[in-house]
Amino acid sequence: MKKIVVAIDGPAGAGKSTIAKLVGEKLGYAYIDTGAMYRSVTWKFLGTGEAFDEAFIGALSNKMIIEFKPEAKVNRVFVDGTEVTDAIRTPEVTANVSRVAAIGAVREAMVDQQRRMGEIGGIIMDGRDIGTVVFPNAELKIFLTASVEERASRRFKEIIAKGQECDLEQLKQEIAARDKADSEREISPLKQAEDAILLDSSDMTIDEVVQTILKMVEERL
Ligand code: C5P
Repeated sequence: MKKIVVAIDGPAGAGKSTIAKLVGEKLGYAYIDTGAMYRSVTWKFLGTGEAFDEAFIGALSNKMIIEFKPEAKVNRVFVDGTEVTDAIRTPEVTANVSRVAAIGAVREAMVDQQRRMGEIGGIIMDGRDIGTVVFPNAELKIFLTASVEERASRRFKEIIAKGQECDLEQLKQEIAARDKADSEREISPLKQAEDAILLDSSDMTIDEVVQTILKMVEERL
């Protein structure tokens, strides 16, 4: 059976990772969360305690080994053998990741790894530049979005469900700020590829989005 490359891009909190993981499982495709890779570089850099320096962070990103171990509920992430699954989701990493991801040398190192992971096809990858830069020839490109209110409200519910405190308005501002930084950066900004299908999930359930994408994959096989 033919195996394709599925690229899912979109703004922060649109549900890309959740959807891509589920679609990947249904298809038996490998799922790669590229946001986790930029978060891993950010985590590694913050751990050094050094001041922000593009050349230093670029060199760090070239030496790191990032690995994924998919499990039923979560995609576990490892950096140089240390598990960072939760450590890369802290507010500190989230607040710094866009700045790290804007560094050219970091992007080169990550894109190189991402292309190697996708060489054999049968892959679903989510991020900001997958359809535009990493796999411009992907057979299926989706730009998954939702209103900023809806994205903030979903994230809010997730945090509250974990028993943690959080401010909805502040969350909305953080998401909007990250989208702005990611869309306005010089290298590989967040944008919809010309041949990507726009999918607005504001009024859709997770299952509806998954079924819609599975149908699109089927059409391409
Ligand atoms: O997907 P997630 O929200 O975890 O991504 C974290 C950050 O990593 C984004 O805000 C963006 O700055 C960066 N990123 C990127 N290119 C990608 C994936 C993520 O620049 N392909």
